[in-house]
Amino acid sequence: MIEGACFCGTVRFRIAVPPTKLYQCHCSECRRVTGAAANASCLVPVNDFRWLSGEQDITQYLAPSGYRSHFCARCGSSVPNRMKHFDLYWVPAGNLPGDLDMQVAVHLCVASKAVWDEVVTTGQRFDAVPNIDTLLKLLR
Ligand SMILES: [Zn+2]
Ligand SMILES: [Zn+2]
Repeated sequence: MIEGACFCGTVRFRIAVPPTKLYQCHCSECRRVTGAAANASCLVPVNDFRWLSGEQDITQYLAPSGYRSHFCARCGSSVPNRMKHFDLYWVPAGNLPGDLDMQVAVHLCVASKAVWDEVVTTGQRFDAVPNIDTLLKLLR
């Protein structure tokens, strides 16, 4: 059982089974949302996820492309959101404690990464986004 939180601590949640694998997406939208080279994320089964506080303080932005960003209205941190078509929560890895035994298993959208982004050598790389079954298999 682990707990995650946004920068200001308003949004807090609990995950029953800590994820062991995560992915990083290097696409231009993830760069803008995070302000960083890539978005580091895990996928957590809905049944393992529970909000502890701050759910009403979550705001979302829906881009014309369909990209959805959920963030804490007080501090702007990315926060988890429930995936539309799957029984999974998307969870920003940076919301979780840094001492978890997790490993980057997948790099997405490597073909559109920033020139200065040196993708580390661990994990499988995809030029774009593979289908969800492929991704889930690699994150298991
Ligand atoms: Zn916050
Ligand atoms: Zn992305």
